[in-house]
Amino acid sequence: MLDVTTPGEQDSSIEVLPTSTPVPAEDRRSLMADPAFGSVFTDHMATIRWNGERGWHNAQVRARAPFPIDPACSVLHYAQEIFEGLKAYRQADDRIALFRPAQNARRFADSARRMAMPPVPEELFLAAIKALVATDCDWVPHGEGSLYLRPFMFSSEAFLGVRPSNEYTFCVIACPVGNYFKGGVKPLNLWLSEEHSRAAPGGTGAAKCGGNYAAGLLAQAEAQQNGCDQVVFLDAVEHRWIEELGGMNLFFVMNDNSIVTPQLGGTILPGITRSSIITLARDCGLSVEERRYAITEWRNDAASGRLIEAFACGTAAVVAGIGSARSASFELTVADRQTGRLTKALRDELIGMQLGHIPDRHGWIDIVDLTA
Ligand SMILES: *Cc1c(COP(=O)(O)O)cnc(C)c1O
Repeated sequence: MLDVTTPGEQDSSIEVLPTSTPVPAEDRRSLMADPAFGSVFTDHMATIRWNGERGWHNAQVRARAPFPIDPACSVLHYAQEIFEGLKAYRQADDRIALFRPAQNARRFADSARRMAMPPVPEELFLAAIKALVATDCDWVPHGEGSLYLRPFMFSSEAFLGVRPSNEYTFCVIACPVGNYFKGGVKPLNLWLSEEHSRAAPGGTGAAKCGGNYAAGLLAQAEAQQNGCDQVVFLDAVEHRWIEELGGMNLFFVMNDNSIVTPQLGGTILPGITRSSIITLARDCGLSVEERRYAITEWRNDAASGRLIEAFACGTAAVVAGIGSARSASFELTVADRQTGRLTKALRDELIGMQLGHIPDRHGWIDIVDLTA
């Protein structure tokens, strides 16, 4: 493994340079009224630079602006890029909460190590996110919406040699998002890709990197051409075992109160929503098995009635029921129109905790200090 040590003492302080031209309050309110996911951005961004000589430096919150980019910028050629996704929620008492952000900090560092990038110290990662949320707190929606935060890092050295870059840019941007299920809950129809794989053993499937998404986009386009919403990827070796969707983990609910979810092991992204759901399901006495689940098993369990619900989960959509899955050669139905009872209960419990309506038994809520 690459040893990327940070020279000198790590300082987690962030310089805040508020923009002199924020979006006027009235315009902000209309932009926030009905934002499509990822299309409306706040006034600021957080940025931190890294190079081999200085380590992490120039930590700032400043006006959101384009990056000047050299045509030889390493990320454009060799795709050293990773990201995270988490949300800030406005609770009923107007405090602003993050959900398990330390898990995102840790996963971001794990992704960095896999991509031979210098991990952002977890304290610094959290400080940058909190400074951005505090600066842009007027952009955190009321009610069911939230502020989606997108930390990311890319290699920014202008150099075409093939080796890990000697310069990186870390950045956090933010977008207000509405309730994902506005317009009613509609179960997802999945396309099972028999031709394309997302991740192979020894590859980058467990790292949250843009390259995994690039590898999945052709299958996603195929899903849409076939009238489906999302792709289910199978394992790359036997094309037999269910792995996950392009950006969400999967769960299968059986009629004996047991739940099955594909086991982690390098080719599946370890979702924070996935881990939270395993905990919440076990809290209410359900047995959760993390194991391999074959496509033939899914077909048999759906046909026999043993499988009563299936759902996908991730930060953006939280929990989404699955209606059907099909490929060029088969089709199965889980639920016609409705979202299953347990799927809905788990979603309500997670969202209730995030919005502060349900007590935080597990210490998952992290309140942002808006005065800092
Ligand atoms: C981000 C992501 C998930 C979901 O992770 P959460 O931490 O729950 O948001 C699942 N699969 C992939 C491939 C992802 O990139």
